[in-house]
Amino acid sequence: MPPKQKNELYKESARKKDVRTSNIEAAKAVADAVRTSLGPRGMDKMVAAPNGEVIITNDGATILQKMTVTQPAAKMLVELSKSQDVVAGDGTTSVVVICGALLKKCQELLEKGVHPTIISDSFNKASAKACEILESIAIPVDMEDREALIRAANTSLSSKVVSQYSSLLSPMAVDAVLRVMDPARPNMLDLRDIKVVAKAGGTIDDSEMVDGMVFDQKAAKSAGGPTRMEDAKVGLIQFQISPPKTDIENNVVVSDYNQMDRIYKEERNYILSVVKKIKASGCNVLLIQKSILRDAVTDLALHYLAKAKIMVVRDIERDEIELISKTLGCLPIAHVDNMKPEKLGSAKLVEEVEVGKGRVVKITGIENKGRTATVLLRGSNKMVLEEADRSLHDALCVIRCLVNKRFLIAGGSSPEVQVSMQLAHWSKTLQGMESFCVRAFAEALEVVPYTLSENAGLNPINIVTELRKLHAAGEKYAGINVKKGCITNMLEGDVVQPLLVTTSAITLATECVRMILKIDDIVPTR
Ligand code: ADP
Ligand code: MG
Repeated sequence: MPPKQKNELYKESARKKDVRTSNIEAAKAVADAVRTSLGPRGMDKMVAAPNGEVIITNDGATILQKMTVTQPAAKMLVELSKSQDVVAGDGTTSVVVICGALLKKCQELLEKGVHPTIISDSFNKASAKACEILESIAIPVDMEDREALIRAANTSLSSKVVSQYSSLLSPMAVDAVLRVMDPARPNMLDLRDIKVVAKAGGTIDDSEMVDGMVFDQKAAKSAGGPTRMEDAKVGLIQFQISPPKTDIENNVVVSDYNQMDRIYKEERNYILSVVKKIKASGCNVLLIQKSILRDAVTDLALHYLAKAKIMVVRDIERDEIELISKTLGCLPIAHVDNMKPEKLGSAKLVEEVEVGKGRVVKITGIENKGRTATVLLRGSNKMVLEEADRSLHDALCVIRCLVNKRFLIAGGSSPEVQVSMQLAHWSKTLQGMESFCVRAFAEALEVVPYTLSENAGLNPINIVTELRKLHAAGEKYAGINVKKGCITNMLEGDVVQPLLVTTSAITLATECVRMILKIDDIVPTR
């Protein structure tokens, strides 16, 4: 060690210290709240909203998002988990747990008198080095290797409430992603092209991937319109089939029955002319976008549409339009004068079918179908269904991560232990405080094996010591086999996860810690 330099010890004013300490304490409390959820044997959380709604989840991002957090620094952890959800989609608990451990180390370093800026810079270096180490132990994956992708999805699902269905959900996630991936532009993967329709009734086992499209609403049949259409010509319309409204603040005063009759006739003629134009285009299934301006379709219009034998599905959301037009190969039509045959999509069958407790409209046999996928998710109740939806989202994100960065690493905390060990080695080559901080960073990463074994009911100290020993002996992939309760080679145990999930967790957690460290005052505004 070089002799201690004078300016390396740092004393700050009591108030600044207080603000920093309370920020770190609050953020750590948030991290502790989700710690028990990490890993396959982690606990689930029941989130009770004031309106009586109950959510059961294991997803870090969801837990934090629902938690009422008011302390500004603690809110940063909520945002941290959210950004991990955006970047990687999985690892939302890990990122918060790692951040908590890093903050704890910061506190120790600050108490020893290390300047926050030195801690911050050293952590930044350490995190860059950690990513390098991770890349060096990563294993390339081929998109053709469906089994490897399924293994990665399995790891992500193994910690969820719905983990016993992973043999069904994982292949589904993989197939859905592969179906929407454009081989020519693999990096442009958009998960919005995968439509997940969740429908209560039955069990998750009944979930299926639909070759076609599913709408979560019934066909409009109050006027006796058809609910099944073969050789369908589907029109996706954005205009309304209802009488135009007057401008706001304008009134029409009707003073006698004659005038009322005229208005009624006028309305009927108008609607009839619209329906005629629709019919003339050859359209026999109409998807109508929800309208905020006026009724998208009136009872009278439904009546005429039924008479014209046109099947109607109402309340299509605005943000679904793109997906629908992509899937069906049709164009959204904004005005009735644009109803042209070439804008319609063709499908063999459009049918209202019963699914569980409700009904959905299914479109199958679509001609020139676009690159989209539809998953019909089923579950016995709303809570299970929603968690299944979130879990499937995680699995989809894992596959997306692999598409974006085609490397896998082993799971079960083996990467964290490996990085921790190599960083500790590296810190010995550094000088002064920096070496000290990097070492602290390395130690903080051991929170992952520690927590995983703690949550699995194992002895954390024994496990972490054993892991250190194995990794020092060159067993790069040794990790905690949570199911068997011992240490095994994670690659042989088929526990793999995308490289991107772990690198982004470490990078984002470090970034958040650095941000919290640099804050020395909270300024309230009015
Ligand atoms: P996150 O929200 O961070 O994804 P999870 O609860 O999914 O949190 O836990 C992820 C951690 O659990 C990762 O470190 C991963 O390696 C580990 N893990 C997942 N499946 C297994 C398994 N079968 N055996 C051991 N560890 C596992
Ligand atoms: Mg996970």
